[in-house]
Amino acid sequence: EQKNFSGGPGALPLAVLRQTRDAIEALPETGLSVLGMSHRSAWFRAVLDEAEQNLRTLLGIPSHYHVLFMQGGSSLQFSMLPMNFLRGTKQRAEYIVSGYWSAKAPPEARHEGPVSVVWDGYDGGYTRLPHADELPLSRHAAYLHYVSNETVEGLEFAGVPGLPDVPLVCDMSSNLLAGPVDIERYAMIYAHAQKNLGPSGVTVVILRDDFARRARGSLPTMLDYRTHIDTRSLYNTPPVFAIYVLMLVTRWLRDDIGGVAAMADINHAKARTVYGALDAHPGFYRVHAERPYRSSMNIAFRLPDAVTETLFLDAAKRDGFHGLEGHRSIGGLRASLYNAVTPEATAALAQWLTDFAQRYG
Ligand code: PLP
Repeated sequence: EQKNFSGGPGALPLAVLRQTRDAIEALPETGLSVLGMSHRSAWFRAVLDEAEQNLRTLLGIPSHYHVLFMQGGSSLQFSMLPMNFLRGTKQRAEYIVSGYWSAKAPPEARHEGPVSVVWDGYDGGYTRLPHADELPLSRHAAYLHYVSNETVEGLEFAGVPGLPDVPLVCDMSSNLLAGPVDIERYAMIYAHAQKNLGPSGVTVVILRDDFARRARGSLPTMLDYRTHIDTRSLYNTPPVFAIYVLMLVTRWLRDDIGGVAAMADINHAKARTVYGALDAHPGFYRVHAERPYRSSMNIAFRLPDAVTETLFLDAAKRDGFHGLEGHRSIGGLRASLYNAVTPEATAALAQWLTDFAQRYG
């Protein structure tokens, strides 16, 4: 049992790790290592098709949405989005800035056209999310962009912001596949792997067809969504290994867990366990997010002082709990409870948090 609570790389389910280990040696279907498989093989076409189909089944993605497997991470999406859908329009793009990651997106859009930051939580230290009546939204915006789960600060939107007529674009890097999504509210959703989806190297983009067709002007081929739509994610050499493991992860979620609604129940129970342990010692543990905005994926928290935080991390590692350091931008501590973190590992962490507070609190 691996107790990996890292906010960057999520753990992979044990069953998937075992299948991956075997596939590195020899795939059951081909007798060859997955690392040596051609991306032009019929085998890989079937992997891509199953990965796409599993995502469609899990999330209820309708046929007028494309599912693309891309590279460049979510950071490249910060640029591609405005290149395709802001450049050459006379509109403004709207951005909600609610944390470290959503703050990275507007500067990229400013290269392409006018941008309105409709809400910025920086002055409040990114401890909460905006309410609908705090967002001065325009019906004429090119799109509204937000991040559904702020990985660093541990803030998660409970509802969906935006106006019905304005294309809504969401970075779901740290909570896609953690629970159900109302896909049809969105023009575009993207999420990198390395959290709930699989190992890094692939980024999933879910794109509504009529929105995709709005892209204008001449773009570099690789940076034009239409290239990836027209070639079904096989314009150039894709990350075969990452997509293969993503396919295994979606199979696991479908067959072993029973889908994203079941996954959400498990995740919420996990989060309750850890928040419960932290809240039981309020003078010792301090959760970064205000209560209504707490994330079920990433729990950022502090201890009374830096010395105790260092002591905490050393002791945790010694006892087999890994990845509990906070993001380098804010420091402190963070427990990430991505899909593959088991209820057992979570319960063990909660007990450990309780013991640590009793000893040092
Ligand atoms: N958006 C969010 C919400 C993230 O959590 C991350 C990385 O953790 C990124 C964007 C950046 O992703 P990448 O490193 O794939 O560019």
